[in-house]
Formats: sequence, structure tokens, C-alpha cells
Amino acid sequence: MYLFGLILVFVAGAIVMFGSDDEAPASVWDDVRYFQPFEFDSPDVPGSGQKVMKLHFIKALDELRGNLGYPLQVNSGYRTPEHNARVGGVPDSAHLKGLAADIYCPTKEHLRKIVYAAREMGFRRIGQYFTVKGNYFVHLDLDDSKEYQGEWCFINGSKSSTLLIP
Ligand SMILES: [Zn+2]
Repeated sequence: MYLFGLILVFVAGAIVMFGSDDEAPASVWDDVRYFQPFEFDSPDVPGSGQKVMKLHFIKALDELRGNLGYPLQVNSGYRTPEHNARVGGVPDSAHLKGLAADIYCPTKEHLRKIVYAAREMGFRRIGQYFTVKGNYFVHLDLDDSKEYQGEWCFINGSKSSTLLIP
């Protein structure tokens, strides 16, 4: 009985330390210099950013932020299927897998700098967006399961045949 209790305590401890599924322990975020987990939350589920965002993606974004030398505002990180549908995301969006972020760009110059820096780092899936509000954002993801590993551009909600930043 004593041994059984000991095993229970050990298992409970392991769950507390490592999480009940594949979720990364909070301490992993200690190495992330410029971002906080909540910045990647799906708005309908507080805490979901830390649970779902893939660390290799966050680390890459952190490195990009370091290379740029100024803060990046995350418009959208993880999305639950419900939130993704609400914002008009594609059904198999990389945002659902914790492998994507949309970064706000107040000007085209900001967009250019981020796109150039992302290409330099080896990001292949880069989406350039010009919104009806008159600003820009860039979608970055590391979803290797996607057949299309290239760039795209949307202007006012319509797919553009040319990139804003060639
Ligand atoms: Zn996106």
C-alpha cells in the first residue's frame, strides 16, 4: 500500500512537472526573450497560447524579433477551430496547430523589413496582407505539412497575383 502511494505521488509529480499531454512546460518559455505566452492565446481560451504554440516556431519568431531590433505585435497566434472560423481562417490553418502568427505592420516599410528578415531566416510560408483599415500584417508559419511552401498576398481580402513586397 505504501509503495502504491509512493508511485501515485511520483506520477502526480510527473504530471505537474511535464503536463498531462505533450504541452511544453512553462519553463521552456524562459528562453524566449521577446514574447509572452498570452500574446499567442486564442482570444476565446486564455492560456491556450502556452499550451498549443509549438516552441520551435516561437523560438524562430523570437530570433526574427531579435534580428529586427524592435517589438513585434502579434495580431493572431493560436486559434481554436471556433475562433478560426469566426475570423475567416482556412479550415486547415496553421494557426490551429500553433505553428503560425500574424504580425501587425503599421506601414509598408515595416512589412518590407519583416518579410526580408523572415526570408533571410529561411521562412518559406509568408503571407503579405493589406487590410481595408489601411494597414498591413504578415502571416508567418512553419507548417511543413502544407503542400504549398511559398509566399502569397491578399489586398483588401482578395488574393493578389503579385506580392506587395516582391
Ligand atoms: Zn495568419
